[in-house]
Amino acid sequence: MEKRGLVLAVIVALVGLVIFGLVYVGMRTAQDETAERVMDQRTAMAQAAVETETERFRALTEATAAGLGTDDDLTWADFDAATAPLSSADLIGAASLAFVVPATTAEIPSVQKLWRDRGSDGLQLKPVGSGEHYFSVYTRTLNSAGPALNGLDVSAAPEAAAALQDARRIGQPSVSDTYVLLRDRNLPTAQQQHSFLFAAPVWSRAPVPSFRGWMVLGLRGQDFLSGVLATVSQGQLDATLLAADRDGDRPVVADYSVGGDADLERRGDFTVADRQWTLITRADAKLLPGATSPLPLSVLLGGIAVSLILAGLVHTLATGQARALAKVEEGTAELRDAEAESRRQAGLLGAIMNSIGDGVGVVDEHGAFLLHNPAARQLLGGMDDAEAPDDWQQHYGIYRPDGRTPFPLDELPLMRALRGELSDGVEMVIRNPRRPEGILLSVDGRPLHTSAGQRGAVAVFHDITELRRYESDLAVFAGVVAHDLKAPLAVIRGHCEAAIEDLADVPPSDAGEDVRDSLQRIVRAVDRMGGLIDTLLAYSTARNAPLRTRPVDLGALLAEVIRDRVEHLRAEQRPDVYVGPMPEVSADPAMLRHVLDNLVGNALKYVRPGTTPRVDVTGEVAGERWARVEIADRGIGIPDEDKPQIFESFHRAQSAAGYAGTGLGLAICKRIVERHGGEIGVADNPGGGTRFHFTIPVPTEGGSDMSKAETDEEAATRAALERALAERAAMENTRLPGLGALPSSVPSGHNPAAVPLRAPVPERPPATAE
Ligand code: ADP
Repeated sequence: MEKRGLVLAVIVALVGLVIFGLVYVGMRTAQDETAERVMDQRTAMAQAAVETETERFRALTEATAAGLGTDDDLTWADFDAATAPLSSADLIGAASLAFVVPATTAEIPSVQKLWRDRGSDGLQLKPVGSGEHYFSVYTRTLNSAGPALNGLDVSAAPEAAAALQDARRIGQPSVSDTYVLLRDRNLPTAQQQHSFLFAAPVWSRAPVPSFRGWMVLGLRGQDFLSGVLATVSQGQLDATLLAADRDGDRPVVADYSVGGDADLERRGDFTVADRQWTLITRADAKLLPGATSPLPLSVLLGGIAVSLILAGLVHTLATGQARALAKVEEGTAELRDAEAESRRQAGLLGAIMNSIGDGVGVVDEHGAFLLHNPAARQLLGGMDDAEAPDDWQQHYGIYRPDGRTPFPLDELPLMRALRGELSDGVEMVIRNPRRPEGILLSVDGRPLHTSAGQRGAVAVFHDITELRRYESDLAVFAGVVAHDLKAPLAVIRGHCEAAIEDLADVPPSDAGEDVRDSLQRIVRAVDRMGGLIDTLLAYSTARNAPLRTRPVDLGALLAEVIRDRVEHLRAEQRPDVYVGPMPEVSADPAMLRHVLDNLVGNALKYVRPGTTPRVDVTGEVAGERWARVEIADRGIGIPDEDKPQIFESFHRAQSAAGYAGTGLGLAICKRIVERHGGEIGVADNPGGGTRFHFTIPVPTEGGSDMSKAETDEEAATRAALERALAERAAMENTRLPGLGALPSSVPSGHNPAAVPLRAPVPERPPATAE
């Protein structure tokens, strides 16, 4: 692809270069043609100008000669009048006009006299050489080229003499070979020019014409050519004027140059009097109008640039297409991967949904089922999907945990989730024709996460029927274990106390005292063990036992806890306890009792020896749903470094050394408070001591407090426990005869953990066991 793009680009560039190259060549050819044409035109103009001018000189000389011929007594005044117009005729390069007469050496004096008489003042003939002489007798200087020089012997210049002779011979005007004018021979060589003269014979008009002399016009070649070409060349044409000498030479009359590299040349012959002269013209094509312009080069350069740009574009497009294709392929591959991945994930999700035991149901914002997994279907009794939420309760048979009260639609976790609320562990019974025995479900509801792309709700539900059964069994088992462990302790304690009482009747002795001491230590150890058993029982129950919430009169519960704590104390041992007004709360009363008892017990226990404990219990409603309870004391306080850990199992602060305890009480409190959804914490009591606080829900309207079914269930558990204990007692009675007669024992009241957490175990031991 990349290579194809390059080849295409090169082709486009080449084609472009060839086209623009051709255009350039065409334009240059057209320009050259224009240059040739312009050159031809200019040459024609120059030649015409030179030819016209020389012809004018010839014609003027001839006309003047003819005019002079009509005058038999040609005086200076006649000559002056005849030639005066020529002064203003703008004869380019003309030096002088003269009337020249022939004379032999012998005739000189008479000739001189004749022309002096006719007006040529002071004429002095100056013969040169010995042959025939040609003297200028009347002279008119043109173009103010110096003084009129009369009396010169023209035969001094053989070229001039030859022209005069020719003119006389042929009776026509003649032009001389080039020579330096006699009048210029005194000038410095550099200023001397190639010159020539026109000579026209002057004949009288008599019937038999007689030869009188010549009309002679002298011209300076360079001045002539420069003057003529100054206008017609327009500064673009060089020229060389060649004369034709009588001996066949072609001498240069004049050169005219405008500079530049002359590359065009033309040559043209024309007639000057009796000769063929030649004008050579040259020009620099670049200087000719229309012959050169930067246009072709601009077109070529522009064309090259356009071709290269086009080639670049083609390359970019071709490779861009390749790149785009590669991108598309890459994108497609990514899409394929993503699709495969999402299919794999969907498959995985489907497999998970199919294999998990928990039911999952998802509804859209109108409550129509989007999906549910097989477990959900199975848990709901395999019923078909209900049409609308309004039918759910009846269709699936959804009841409160009592199994009888229809579950209110608004409180269903899915409906709450559609309203944006979260709910956890909502218990409900499903009983319908397919599930006549009913199952107990625990349901969590959540609004559908926004990543799902639509609004809706999801519910996860699991069957807790068995769990609930197991919990009940566990409660029975724990009760039985507690009883089984505590019964022998009660027996030991009973025997010890009986022995101590018996010792009272024995006369005091050291040995007797030792025995009493030992017995009392046994009693205390037995009490501690009983307390530990109760605490462990409470610890396991706080974790596992179901919450049985109901409205609780917190004030009454506290009063009961405090009474149990202090009633057995002597007046001087009684602590200073203040209980403020308390709100009603919604809690499992047995569990809440344990929390209060533990916190109050700690407040009474952790005091400096010899000081009277002081406890302040206050409560208030905090916010819509919560009550906040504070238990403050003036005891030994808790070091800051221990505060974060005291709610962990078995953690005891250093400062608690010397005080009885297991390190489990606060762990149980924390668990109970959190199971109610509240929180517990500790802080220093300003002024010394500790200040514990916890929050607990207040009853809500229509809140789900312990229902009749739960009471029934508890009654059933209690009955089961009593049955189990009766069986145990019967067995033990057969194994340990007589033990039943021993005094019954309850854990001593001052042990803070001694109060049973909840009451699966009857608070009074079954009658059959005593
Ligand atoms: P226990 O009292 O059986 O040791 P807790 O769990 O009830 O166990 O208490 C844990 C620890 O917290 C105690 O060992 C004691 O160090 C500290 N503590 C609890 N309540 C108080 C209090 N009111 N004053 C001082 N220290 C306390």
